[in-house]
Amino acid sequence: MEFGARTDIGLVRKINEDGFHVGGNLFAVADGMGGHQAGEVASRVALEVLADYHIDRADPKSSLQGAFQRANEVVYMKARKDKTLVGMGTTLTALLITEGRLWVAHVGDSRAYLCRQRELVQLTQDHSVVGELVRNGDLSAQEARFHPHRNLLTRALGTASVVAVDVFSTEWQQDDKALLCTDGLSGPLEDDEIRQIIQDHDDPQGAVDELIRQARKRGAPDNVTAVLIKLASQDKSARRRHA
Ligand code: MG
Repeated sequence: MEFGARTDIGLVRKINEDGFHVGGNLFAVADGMGGHQAGEVASRVALEVLADYHIDRADPKSSLQGAFQRANEVVYMKARKDKTLVGMGTTLTALLITEGRLWVAHVGDSRAYLCRQRELVQLTQDHSVVGELVRNGDLSAQEARFHPHRNLLTRALGTASVVAVDVFSTEWQQDDKALLCTDGLSGPLEDDEIRQIIQDHDDPQGAVDELIRQARKRGAPDNVTAVLIKLASQDKSARRRHA
């Protein structure tokens, strides 16, 4: 699977609380929150648990649910045991690629997109106050990008003993590209600009580098993370699943 990935501290924040995972057919981004360095711990721990979790290829849906619940539990328990980490949490958005299907598991306001030819479609719903306002028609997507409460999440991983996880799948076609990103990218850049950059760069790492460069040009007020995967069925790991 050809992919590009990068995380960048941005131009304002003192630490990078974002993180990503790439490996095999599992990809993820996480955007941690919490005082001091707690957000960085939350995103790192969640990504580690996800990466280590045994994914049963015969049952991606339960596996992803299980992995997210486990990650939630580990982050939550860690926060309860260490008072410097109280209240920490993280977004977690993951993609599991199987033959012909793209499985998405998601909590928070990081995003998964599917880019097909000239179209970019956001697959995930933002679990944020402004995300809900947009879905209810009370706010435009444009207004949401500059809303003072745009960082308020309605769901995060690790802040309570259980978490509601969105898990679903969609079919993918040859040459589709899947993008995972944190709000440090989708805030400063409009969907149409993201789509254009992905279309202009066939090389996924080249596209990711340009996406981050553009977010920095806009002042990068937040940490910025992007993972871009070029979906192709001649992929060796895809074949191996059928062996
Ligand atoms: Mg962020």
